[in-house]
Amino acid sequence: MTQLSKDHLISLAKEFGTPLYVYHAEKIKEQYQKLTTAFSNSNTVFFYACKALTNVNILRYVCQLGANVDCSSINEVRLALHAGFPPTRILYTSNGIAFSEIEEAQSLGVIINIDSLSNLEKFGQRFGHSYPVGVRLRPNIMAGGNLKISTGHDKSKFGIPVDQIGEVLAVVKKYNLLVADLHIHTGSEIKDVDVFVKGIEILFDIIPQFADLQFIDLGGGFKVPYKDGDTETDINLLAQKVGAAFASHPNPGGRPLQVWFEPGKFLVSECGYFVTQVNVIKETSAATFVSVDSGFNHLIRPMFYDAYHYIENVSNPGGAEKKYSVVGNICETDTFAWDRRIHEVREGDYLVFRNAGAYGFEMSSNFNARYKPAEVLVKDGNAHLIRRRDRFEDLLRNQIELSL
Ligand SMILES: *Cc1c(COP(=O)(O)O)cnc(C)c1O
Repeated sequence: MTQLSKDHLISLAKEFGTPLYVYHAEKIKEQYQKLTTAFSNSNTVFFYACKALTNVNILRYVCQLGANVDCSSINEVRLALHAGFPPTRILYTSNGIAFSEIEEAQSLGVIINIDSLSNLEKFGQRFGHSYPVGVRLRPNIMAGGNLKISTGHDKSKFGIPVDQIGEVLAVVKKYNLLVADLHIHTGSEIKDVDVFVKGIEILFDIIPQFADLQFIDLGGGFKVPYKDGDTETDINLLAQKVGAAFASHPNPGGRPLQVWFEPGKFLVSECGYFVTQVNVIKETSAATFVSVDSGFNHLIRPMFYDAYHYIENVSNPGGAEKKYSVVGNICETDTFAWDRRIHEVREGDYLVFRNAGAYGFEMSSNFNARYKPAEVLVKDGNAHLIRRRDRFEDLLRNQIELSL
């Protein structure tokens, strides 16, 4: 297994300070190769859903690995271009955005998925048949780790509900739209590969009505393990079942179709380590609190999604296990873990949070006027600072001071 050792993480904490995000390049490569190996006999392309982690060095690394990129905003598109992705390898899956962003994406030459009838209509008026477009559909499937990260169910805001396919087809006909791909993304942390097969089945019914279709885009949401005994989405089984679904519907619509996936978490979750240092230990009748030099301002997933992050005391791996509530140092409840068994914790120890690569730094803020953490990339055994820690002037940078 590709992972960084405790001693390595301690030395990085000493060199770069804490709190610190550390990413391990070779782990990203390992995950990408799992995908490409499993799907090697099929016409499948992977787009890294970069909202998980947009540091430009990560984008550049993923680009070199050969993956394409999926963006959720026009600025992610600009970052991807800056990182060196050619426009033809950039997909912009928009949702609820102003039409002006779609016009900008078109002018940049990237692939565009549209997720509302309203923007599809505007696209038709503006571009007609002159520029290919993808349609994001909502399959009305319930899937994913929990409701907050499910996006394909019948009350979700994402995509055009499949039951409105008649209206989609009417817009396509009216403007002679060139629909090159159909997209669905049902949620995050989908362990059951049959969810993807069900998505394909729903699309197979519709595909024959889109004469220009070249791609079907099944979105992201592959699950990763968070603790011992956890499993990830079985990618080999997925490849086998997707292959079987296509074998039973050879060339739906009369042409071979390329399949796309948009993994975010799967590529970068496990590559990341969030390294903190223990400020204070507080014994109370209810719990022993361990306060680290961070909070939900740096890692919001536990408070936001009840996400589980394995926490390891890298400074005292031989210590007796005890139960702790691990909390942060901000003025707001910012519990990272309740009643968690951790090797005995002392003030000054380094606690490392696993699975910190996806939606970790990316969702961080300056709440409590604290600095955002530094980010380090370990590649070929060498550590590179890829974002310096905030400084005091960063807190004031965009403020306009009046003489009141
Ligand atoms: C967030 C997102 C993804 C990636 O989801 P993961 O759970 O990180 O794999 C893929 N596609 C779209 C459209 C997304 O919004």
